[in-house]
Amino acid sequence: MAAQTEESDCAREQTKAEQDVDQVRKRAARDQQRLDSGAVSSPKDLENLQREITSLAKRQGDLEDVVLEVMERRESAQARVAELDERVAAVQAKLDDATARRDAAFGELDGESGSVTKERQVVSASVPADLLKLYEKLREQQGGVGAARLYQRRCEGCQLELNITEVNEVRAAAPDTVVRCENCRRILVRTSESGL
Ligand SMILES: [Zn+2]
Repeated sequence: MAAQTEESDCAREQTKAEQDVDQVRKRAARDQQRLDSGAVSSPKDLENLQREITSLAKRQGDLEDVVLEVMERRESAQARVAELDERVAAVQAKLDDATARRDAAFGELDGESGSVTKERQVVSASVPADLLKLYEKLREQQGGVGAARLYQRRCEGCQLELNITEVNEVRAAAPDTVVRCENCRRILVRTSESGL
C-alpha cells in the first residue's frame, strides 16, 4: 500500500509538473507570436519581451528536468509495486493452498469424530452404569484415558510394571472384578497378553 501511495503521489506530481511546463510553453509561444506580429514597436518593450522569452525558455528547461526526475521516481515506484504485487500473489497462493488442506483435514476429522462417537455410544451402552461412571471419573482425572491395557505386566496407561504382589492380586481377582493400577489408578484391562 505504501508503494502504491508513493506511485500515485508521483503520478500526481508528474501531472502538476507537466502542467507547469505547458503553462510556460504557452506563455512563451504567446510572447513569440507578439514579437513576430510586429505589434510591439517600442525598443524597450521589445527588449522586455525578448528577455521574458529567454527567461521562459530557461524556466521551461528547469521544469522539464523536474518532470524527468519525477518520471524516474515514478518508474521505480511502479517497479516496486509490481514486485510487491507478485509477492502478495505468491503468499496468497500459499495461504489458499494451506486453507484448502486445513479444510480437507477438518472434513476428515469431522467424519472420523462422527464414526468414533457412534462406536463409543454402542460400546458404552453395553457397560454397567457404575463402571461407566468410574471410568468417566478416571478419564477426567487422567488426561482423557480412564482405562489401560495390562500388557506383559505393564500398565499401558502409566507405563509402570506391576510388582509381584500386584500381579498376584490381579491374578487372584475374578474375571469380572474391576482391577486398577496401583500407580495411576486407571482401570486395567486384562487380556491373554497381560503376562498373568
Ligand atoms: Zn498405571
